[in-house]
Amino acid sequence: MSGTDSPWKVYTRLLGFARPYRGLLLLAGVGMLLEAGAGGAFAKLMESVVDETFIKRDEAKSLLLPAYIVGLFVIRGVAGYITDMGMGKAARSIARDFRVEVLGKYLRLPGLRFDTEPVPSMLVRLGSDSDQVAQAAVDAMKVMIQQSLQVIAMLAVMLYTSWQVTIAILLMAPPLAWMMDRVAKRYRRISHRIQESGAEMMQAADQTLSNQQEVKIYGAQRTELKRYAGLADTNLKLAMKVEATRSISSAMVQLMGAVGLALLLFFAGREAMAGRLTAGGFVSLMVSMMAIIPALKQLTNVQNMLQRGVASAQRLFTVLDADDEQDHGTRPLDRAKGVIEFRDITARYPGQSRPALEGINFTARPGTVTAIVGRSGSGKSTLIKLIPRFYEAESGQILLDGHPLQDYRLADLRRQIALVGQQVMLFDGTVAANVAYGELQGAQAGPMEEAVRGANAMEFVSELPEGLHAPIGHKGGRLSGGQRQRLAIARAMLKDAPILILDEATAALDNESERLVQNALQKLMPDRTTLVIAHRLSTIEHADQVLVLDQGHLVEQGTHGELLARGGLYAHLYQMQFREGEAG
Ligand code: ATP
Ligand code: MG
Repeated sequence: MSGTDSPWKVYTRLLGFARPYRGLLLLAGVGMLLEAGAGGAFAKLMESVVDETFIKRDEAKSLLLPAYIVGLFVIRGVAGYITDMGMGKAARSIARDFRVEVLGKYLRLPGLRFDTEPVPSMLVRLGSDSDQVAQAAVDAMKVMIQQSLQVIAMLAVMLYTSWQVTIAILLMAPPLAWMMDRVAKRYRRISHRIQESGAEMMQAADQTLSNQQEVKIYGAQRTELKRYAGLADTNLKLAMKVEATRSISSAMVQLMGAVGLALLLFFAGREAMAGRLTAGGFVSLMVSMMAIIPALKQLTNVQNMLQRGVASAQRLFTVLDADDEQDHGTRPLDRAKGVIEFRDITARYPGQSRPALEGINFTARPGTVTAIVGRSGSGKSTLIKLIPRFYEAESGQILLDGHPLQDYRLADLRRQIALVGQQVMLFDGTVAANVAYGELQGAQAGPMEEAVRGANAMEFVSELPEGLHAPIGHKGGRLSGGQRQRLAIARAMLKDAPILILDEATAALDNESERLVQNALQKLMPDRTTLVIAHRLSTIEHADQVLVLDQGHLVEQGTHGELLARGGLYAHLYQMQFREGEAG
């Protein structure tokens, strides 16, 4: 089943999400039955009120009936409360279930998904879509059942009071309703047009006023004014049309109402002449009819509610039905040695004619540093993103300790990797919670402090009022760039993974923080397999091998010295870029 199924299928699937709450819904259903019953009883009671109190002047009943009315409304109120609470709780719970499930799903989707669906759109799925779905599933159902019950109860009262009049009314009602609907639709159409005309006028004025200098220089005041006046005239004509339509339509609607009432009177009168309908019966009929009309109106709105909800549900189901990241590996992996081998790797983003990486071969061994350099867009980030399997290669194999990455469970594989990105990801929380993140949660205070110290972060953390337990603000907003980076390094240190991947910041840190960050990284590198997208000369000079990428190809490979001596692309880049960086 997928999001493109028929609305009915989507809706039934949606109702599946209501299943856990059927108890609540059942309770609400009982409430609705009581509500409708009380409403019907009230309409019927009107008959006795008129006949007993006013016509027969029955003293005892005239005291009892007002009490009945209050009693009926107490029942109705309590029943309404039960309905609203039951339905409301079910709807909100369904929305919550959707939210949690959809966020969980997003986190299981492959990295590619995040290129095709922007995060703000994901937020809409979690926000208004989830709410609307709950509305469709529950609120629409509520209106449908509640108002249908209301209609049924009132119809029953009417039929019971006088089936002859009721049937006559039922026959007359549809043509009247149809005509009222036509009139209302015409009014809506015209008022929509006037909104558009208003927007056009605004646009024209905006254009003229924002470009006032051009208007003046080119002497365009008169043409601009003429254009605006034309639009304003159209607007005026439309406004008059709306006024006329509104007036006529409200007169028409009232006329229809009067015709309906006249018909009721006509038939009721004939029944009264025949001695089959009392004055009280007539009042009862009127009250019931009055109650049916708004109920019917609400029922016609259900369609809209359902449509919107089904559209939202379709979008959500498309997300829920998308394929998870491939995760079929079974090879046990506790702690990897960290030998990474790329074998003829080609990678391509969807829709790309030229692969982002092509025929890449290299090996990175434990205890060594592999620096990756190349122009912007040469494929450096793509290369490192293949290792935690954020993306899958199109062909070729990446081996970890001699086995393809796909042989391992994703969670196991990713546990082997510490990653310090260019943009440091921090979360709203304390320093400690950010360092001991995810599976590191619950780390002992000792190792954590050691990591923070190792990352040269202790010096600023200890100055925060609450130290390790200081909140760092949304996305770490209360920290400087270099401080954020050092926290990320502390996180990587605490993880103590055999593979370390770094995307060095190019952002200009001042010399002091750069030195601190660099120094922290140096401490992290030994005994691990380190891959670093390098911008800093010091990193590259000390690297065991440098990979030079150009347009997705590995064009040079060697140590800094070897590559410089070769006088190829690396030497060129070095002249252009790294020397400049050194000077600055
Ligand atoms: P920079 O130094 O600017 O970060 P880079 O070497 O890291 O560049 P990559 O990000 O690997 O370059 O990009 C390699 C190629 O793949 C580029 O042509 C880029 O336009 C393309 N590319 C990168 N990410 C995506 C993506 N998510 N979807 C489609 N194409 C992408
Ligand atoms: Mg990059």
